[in-house]
Amino acid sequence: MCGIVAYVGNREAAPLILKGLKRLEYRGYDSAGIALLNGDGLKIYKKKGKVADLEALIADKVLHATIGIGHTRWATHGEPNDVNAHPHYSFGKRLAIIHNGIIENYSTIKQSLIKKGYEFQSQTDTEVLVNFIEDIQKNKNCSTEEAVRLALQEVVGAYAIVVMDAETPGQLVAARKGSPLVIGVGENEFFFASDATPIIEYTKDVVYLNDYEIAVVNDEGLNIKNLENQEKDPFIQTVELELEAIEKGGYDHFMLKEIFEQPRSIADCMRGRLNADEALILLGGLRNHIDKLAKAKRIVFVACGTSWHAGLVGEYLFEELARINVEVEYASEFRYRNPIIKEGDFIIAISQSGETADTLAALELAKSKGAVILGVCNVVGSSISRITDAGVYTHAGPEIGVASTKAFTAQVTVLTLMAIATAKAKGTINEDTFRRLLFEMAAIPQKVEQILQKAEEIKDISKLFTFASNFIFLGRGLNFPVALEGALKLKEISYIHAEGYPAAEMKHGPIALIDEDMPVVFIATKDSSYEKVVSNIQEVKARKGRVIAIVSEGDVDVKKMVDFAIEIPNTHEILMPLLTVVPLQLLSYYIAVMRGRNVDQPRNLAKSVTVE
Ligand code: GLU
Repeated sequence: MCGIVAYVGNREAAPLILKGLKRLEYRGYDSAGIALLNGDGLKIYKKKGKVADLEALIADKVLHATIGIGHTRWATHGEPNDVNAHPHYSFGKRLAIIHNGIIENYSTIKQSLIKKGYEFQSQTDTEVLVNFIEDIQKNKNCSTEEAVRLALQEVVGAYAIVVMDAETPGQLVAARKGSPLVIGVGENEFFFASDATPIIEYTKDVVYLNDYEIAVVNDEGLNIKNLENQEKDPFIQTVELELEAIEKGGYDHFMLKEIFEQPRSIADCMRGRLNADEALILLGGLRNHIDKLAKAKRIVFVACGTSWHAGLVGEYLFEELARINVEVEYASEFRYRNPIIKEGDFIIAISQSGETADTLAALELAKSKGAVILGVCNVVGSSISRITDAGVYTHAGPEIGVASTKAFTAQVTVLTLMAIATAKAKGTINEDTFRRLLFEMAAIPQKVEQILQKAEEIKDISKLFTFASNFIFLGRGLNFPVALEGALKLKEISYIHAEGYPAAEMKHGPIALIDEDMPVVFIATKDSSYEKVVSNIQEVKARKGRVIAIVSEGDVDVKKMVDFAIEIPNTHEILMPLLTVVPLQLLSYYIAVMRGRNVDQPRNLAKSVTVE
């Protein structure tokens, strides 16, 4: 949550920071602010709303400064308004801070500061932290770095912070625990950001700050220490990210661009890993783990949101192909439940950002209980990818639309490759099935392309459902998680209430909701449960529900029964989710756009959930 950008060097800081904040706006967008330091002192400008509102606020001001910090907020403590927006001044106005995360013990610290005479402008936990730092600095008469270090030793919670001190112009102090922070290292200039996207235009050399580390940048360069004051060697790496990947490239929204990128992102995800001609799957990141995975007694997927749905697909895949017992857990529940973890258990985290707070904590718990922990993440170098024993990157490229699309299909692609490779190692699938699956996998990108060509048709159907206030999504088997994902997508971006159910479960309750005003989306492709789904559609039609069905090319039976049918190409049954989800993404997208929603930044949401 929240985007952080900070700069010190020779360039004009304000435009650079604003541009960076726009790149990070997907992380939080209820308010934005900037603090600049120059000969006139330390000044903060902040505003409720988007970065564009902040831009308008400062448009007529002359803001010459070569050092500054900026923030786009996703409120946790205190409503989104001008005062609660970051940066926050310390009480004495010497310091300014930006913060991503939550200070859990802020209330105790605040009480003790109030007793000392501190006054607070905002309701945030962040203002408590900056005053705590200032108080330590005053009492100990120490440097900002030392005060930050001592303060953080007392802090419980998660943070990425950058602090600017009016008395040390040319210096920034930053720290992290649990929230990401990347340092860009240029020539006589430094950048801080929540991810690399605001930085890559200027330098590709970056350092990913680790938990419990404090970084200081000034004219002496970059210096990193841990909270125990021990020096750390900065590990400079090169980011492989091109500017085009983070721009809209002619599409109206990032979400649409990302939906249309799927033929390429799925292919990228399989590149170098799947070789159908030579009947090979090579997952470099799991090189030493596939044989062990084949012997796993149990796999537990831990994830949240869309990634949890990918985990449900993974459950079907691993059980069906590799005959391994699988459980899929909401990371937030798993971590607080004293879960039973035994030898031979594999815990696999799925997370687009690799920073999801609950998933990270669930992994840490599993690791402490001796489990082997694996990760399926999109963001290279992310926290999850660093704490896991091994893993597979999804290589979907940056996903900026808040509602996940291409990251989901890439996660499912990785899980499918993992399940097939594990089944092969275990001997639970025969050579023919193995080869057939590989050829079918290789053909998926082109089949997704065929579905995308139906965008106009799906748009036309969407027009008729713009005013619906409820939706039900139904599917069976591997398409049940897709039904859940279809419902989630629609809720997230259109604010229409939507439920996903296993199609057969409908008659145990949700069928009471069916009438002529209830749109029901069925995933009714030709697979082993086709006949059963046909019966479920009959049940809905008998109650006058309006049915949109995703059907296989050449389908006759379902098409006769439903109001609208969207045909998709055939593939092997276990690969179906990679295709069936695509029309549902488009349906949600068009309905949301026609309802006038901001699909890339839907209300109350943020992309990377780094708070519990
Ligand atoms: N907890 C802080 C606040 O509510 C930071 C939230 C964020 O990460 O944007 O202001």
